[in-house]
Amino acid sequence: MSILSYPKIEEYQLPHKNILVISCIDLRLTDNLLHFLHHDNLHNRYDHFALAGTSLCTHAAHEHRHRFDPQALKTYDHFKPWKTTLDHHLAIAVKLHDIKDVYIIEHEDCGAYKEFLIDGTGTFSSREEEYQCHKEFALTLAREIHTKPFPKEVVKGNEIVLENHQLNVHCFFIDLRGNVRLMDSLT
Ligand SMILES: [Zn+2]
Repeated sequence: MSILSYPKIEEYQLPHKNILVISCIDLRLTDNLLHFLHHDNLHNRYDHFALAGTSLCTHAAHEHRHRFDPQALKTYDHFKPWKTTLDHHLAIAVKLHDIKDVYIIEHEDCGAYKEFLIDGTGTFSSREEEYQCHKEFALTLAREIHTKPFPKEVVKGNEIVLENHQLNVHCFFIDLRGNVRLMDSLT
């Protein structure tokens, strides 16, 4: 029996309500991802949005443009449709399912890094270098989501008013054995 390593309970505030999970499409870690979510008491309490590379391409049109293979940028229209679709799904998830937290789950040995970044950028000389690279991309997306106001209808007395909600965002890194590290938590 294997014993997986997960973040300690005091490292971040566990979500009390529903969450949105943003992960890579990678098929090798699907069961490990579910196992981790169940460990966090999130069974059937999450929406799931998958993008190749998780956060990698969400800011390819702006902040991280210079790190991408020009041909990949051309082929995928600077990944702008990917980001737009994510934004739309995040907004509808908040509206329909009262999302309060977002999990951004990066993973080891991600093929999208090799496919989309300029030569050499997606291959790493050490596991720590790989981890830090993922953390940089994940935090760019996390900061944007965390600072963005999400309008939500709230009943106050006899009235329905619009209130702006801020989402908590937690960034994780999962290795190929299913061990999970917390990269950062914005609350
Ligand atoms: Zn991947």
